[in-house]
Amino acid sequence: MNFADLGLSKPLLDAIELQGYTEPSPIQAKAIPHVIAGRDVMAAAQTGTGKTAGFTLPILHRLSNTPKPSGKGNQARALVLTPTRELAAQVAASVETYGQNLKIKTAVVFGGVKINPQMQKLRGGVDVLIATPGRLLDLHNQNAVQFDQLEVLVLDEADRMLDMGFIHDIRRIIKMLPKKRQNLLFSATFSNDIRQLAKTIVHDPIEVSVSPANSTVDSVQQSLIAVEKTDKTNVLTRLIVENDWFQVLVFSRTKHGANRLVKQLLAKGVEASAIHGNKSQGARTKALAEFKAGKVRVLVATDIAARGIDIDQLPHVINFDLPQVAEDYVHRIGRTGRAGATGEAISLVSHDEFKLLVAIERLIKKEVPRKHLDGYQPLNDLPGSKGDFRDVKPKKPKKPRSSVGNSSNGKPSGRAKENARSDGGGAQRSRKKRSSNSKPQSNSATPSRAGRNARRAKATKRVTSNRSSNTVG
Ligand code: AMP
Repeated sequence: MNFADLGLSKPLLDAIELQGYTEPSPIQAKAIPHVIAGRDVMAAAQTGTGKTAGFTLPILHRLSNTPKPSGKGNQARALVLTPTRELAAQVAASVETYGQNLKIKTAVVFGGVKINPQMQKLRGGVDVLIATPGRLLDLHNQNAVQFDQLEVLVLDEADRMLDMGFIHDIRRIIKMLPKKRQNLLFSATFSNDIRQLAKTIVHDPIEVSVSPANSTVDSVQQSLIAVEKTDKTNVLTRLIVENDWFQVLVFSRTKHGANRLVKQLLAKGVEASAIHGNKSQGARTKALAEFKAGKVRVLVATDIAARGIDIDQLPHVINFDLPQVAEDYVHRIGRTGRAGATGEAISLVSHDEFKLLVAIERLIKKEVPRKHLDGYQPLNDLPGSKGDFRDVKPKKPKKPRSSVGNSSNGKPSGRAKENARSDGGGAQRSRKKRSSNSKPQSNSATPSRAGRNARRAKATKRVTSNRSSNTVG
């Protein structure tokens, strides 16, 4: 099959050819004809499968083949919601690339940067708007964007949006949209939570799927090396230097850990930079650009910040720490081996991380092969695999973002804070603004929701006062 068989228009086919794509990926072949036909689609596709083009190409096809609605104003014809700024920027770049031969106006909006230039961009309307939820709500509250003429809604990485506690923001956004519209929902997995959410969004959807839930991408060669915690930096440096690796994406569980590792690598003469929620958006964009350009050899990232990092042929992913949440392992290693390329994912696992390893192997239903590093033996050996590959019970639905991740001191956890930052904390700020505003809102539920959240936070504080604080982030 080739792209012309999917019914895409000539300007799009020319843009695809320029990218060097010879044939549609499986998710593209399955989804594109239905999207062109105007159907609602629920697609289960992991990152790296070509899912972005799977919705971008047919949306551009439809928008460019139907007349622009008359009327002025800051309207958007298609809205793509993403969980993180990096993914929003990535999707926007794809829309620009594939739409280069079309008269299509695109805007991308997310938090952490000034809102005024985004307002200006939206003036006069756009064809495709890519947004993170919080900033979109801020812009809508300030009348900077309207949706009366919205034709298509895309939820990209819907599972991640729920994980990050965006459910209420999504519901509020859906209420702002016209009832008659096309809906596309992309998610790595179709968990019960996603199906619940889908019920309120899609109508009579076509379901397409290209990979079973939580299967790790076959093109990624996974392995682990058992190490002493204190030896991890040395082992990492040895791997990078001895193998002469470039473009190594390293995952750290915490922001402080990421900063510390960058310092240690720099001290050993390995060019490295960090990307996480404590960095300004400018610093994050710069670090990513330098890494992509090959100026920086190692990029150390936390899980949230790494979402949306799409680098062609990224060959090496290293888990410096195992993730607290087993699903993040699948997302992490999915950064390599994208679009048919092969990649390698190595985890440095210390004795105290054995429980996390057990959870990962149960989720991916296979053992992660172990590698031995010549001349190196950890003092505390890692126990052998438990070989427990039973089904994992579905997770309980997550609480909304404002109450997710409260730590024992009642303050938001590192992860909740980083989530908010991924979106610029726009929604949180606007909620604060609204709750402190004595004027009643048209949506009168909002101030009482803030009150409820405060009460819930207090209750969580009481209940969890004996638990240790969550430092993930
Ligand atoms: P995604 O899953 O959308 O994040 O895409 C992963 C990578 O696959 C991106 O770098 C795309 O440029 C690339 N890609 C998308 N479609 C194709 C295709 N049909 N052939 C080859 N590469 C593709």
